[in-house]
Amino acid sequence: MAAKNRAARSRHKAEVMRSRRIPCPYIKGDIVSVHTGKELKAVGEFLAYDAKKNRVFLLGRMLVKHFVKADPNNNKAGGEVHTELSIHVSNTALNCPHCSKPTRLVRRETWSAGDERNAAGMRWDWQCRECGESVPRNPKKD
Ligand SMILES: [Zn+2]
Repeated sequence: MAAKNRAARSRHKAEVMRSRRIPCPYIKGDIVSVHTGKELKAVGEFLAYDAKKNRVFLLGRMLVKHFVKADPNNNKAGGEVHTELSIHVSNTALNCPHCSKPTRLVRRETWSAGDERNAAGMRWDWQCRECGESVPRNPKKD
């Protein structure tokens, strides 16, 4: 697409970035740290992923407070309610379960005798970039 001017080009780029789908990098039980905004350097457990908006929900992070009216018919108490808002994935990183640092995972081949996956004992393994320990991921894409 040939954009006419600078504004149109930047608008086009923003549209491309918005439409790009990032697959969820986290699995259940992951500890995720935040790198921007009011929750800078905060850590939370991975709750859910919004695949359309590429946003992550973390347990107890980005809390907003609102007030709910009591509902006596359904036996619900009113008052303060806290709910989580989402954070964009690019502003988060996985905390390694071994060294508890925010890291990226690298895919390396590891060798072990008697591995059932491969006769030669070779398998691909996700490892922490900092400490080199193996971090279990979804084995579907091996
Ligand atoms: Zn590590």
